[in-house]
Amino acid sequence: MNKSQEILAVESESLPSSSRIKYFDMVIDHGKGALLYDVDGREYIDFLASASSANTGHCHPKVVAAIQKQATQLIHYTPAYYANPVNSSLLTRLAALAPGDFPKKVAVGISGSDANDAMIKFSRGYTGRSYIICFTGAYHGSTYGSITLSNVSLNMSRKIGPLLPNVVKMPFPDSHKMLPNESQEDFVARMWQAFMEPFETWLPVEEVAGVIIEGIQGDGGIIACPKAYMEKLYAFTRTHGIVFAVDEINQGFGRSGKMWAIDHFDIAPDLMSIGKSVASGMPFSALIGRTEIMESLDAPAHVFTTAGNPVCAAAAHATLDVIEEEKLVERSERLGKIAARFFERMQKTYDFVGDVRMYGLDGGIDIVSADKTPDVAATTKIIAELFKLGVIMISLRGNILRFQPPLVITDEQLNTGLSKVEQAFEAYQNNEI
Ligand code: PLP
Repeated sequence: MNKSQEILAVESESLPSSSRIKYFDMVIDHGKGALLYDVDGREYIDFLASASSANTGHCHPKVVAAIQKQATQLIHYTPAYYANPVNSSLLTRLAALAPGDFPKKVAVGISGSDANDAMIKFSRGYTGRSYIICFTGAYHGSTYGSITLSNVSLNMSRKIGPLLPNVVKMPFPDSHKMLPNESQEDFVARMWQAFMEPFETWLPVEEVAGVIIEGIQGDGGIIACPKAYMEKLYAFTRTHGIVFAVDEINQGFGRSGKMWAIDHFDIAPDLMSIGKSVASGMPFSALIGRTEIMESLDAPAHVFTTAGNPVCAAAAHATLDVIEEEKLVERSERLGKIAARFFERMQKTYDFVGDVRMYGLDGGIDIVSADKTPDVAATTKIIAELFKLGVIMISLRGNILRFQPPLVITDEQLNTGLSKVEQAFEAYQNNEI
């Protein structure tokens, strides 16, 4: 047994199996930039960025310094009663960063999940309506509200129902659903028809409070919503007085080569949830939204004792500084092009590499069998080989390689990691794994 295995053996006595999606016996000791080191001294290139929460990399010196400084001054006093300057100034900064030239307010939380719960609460509070529309394939979190919005694994809702009432799941216009020879236009028209169907039979549009969508579905497989569909959806919400909310928890802060995934659509949402990388992985989340919506509930409708924690807020300020100073959004776009070229070459070289979607340093690479259907077994082998070669990658939907390295990854680290991906592909091609 190595050290990792020893720690995991002890941990398994107290960790419920519902708390981890198991991959390999690896326990992380420390991280630096895009590199991770396990307790047994092995080095890995991180192509997962802690599930897109380490956009500034691991232990960025500026983020570390901000945390250390704030921790000596005030670790916490709940902003539910009294303000602290770090959190207060962060609210202003976040409101200014969110798209839309209108007054905004910001409700803070601890996890992406609670930010999406807030989306449900404020949409209902503002409109006085109950239905919330979300999309198949999406993952929005693990609290009761956000699980209800999510559609990625049966295990999430099994045995815990009933979930939240009046949440309607519409089919996401996932490019995998395109018919052979179907044009993009026809595809959007068909998906839009499917969206409209419930309103003709059982769903009263005047009772819909909000719509929540990811511009680019993250856990759904890194799949962008077609622009024409998003425009129709947004126009529909304007016509019917429905709150238009976007989840930027996975995709925000430069991941997709723009600051926000919704920037690809030139739409300013009424509400936007953020989390994960906002504070480089420190527990901090927020719902940013139009002032009139965010003023629709009374205290204490949405407070958490440890939300707005000044140490986390200091980490968030430093994270935003790093994103600006190191031009991480532009970096994501530039390096994303290198990765896109690489994976397109892989697609031409290996039949088992199917559709490749890349938006900045945000990629979904389908692994398919000879008949072009999802090949989960092949994906599992490739990921295991990558782990052996020192690259951390996981799958989405079983057969999609998830490519989300820290945005600070150096050109050299990126190229080294990609060459190991090619090595793993070659090994699979040659039946060596
Ligand atoms: N929304 C999206 C798009 C996510 O990807 C996630 C997490 O993976 C969440 C919400 C939930 O965030 P958290 O795990 O911080 O609660």
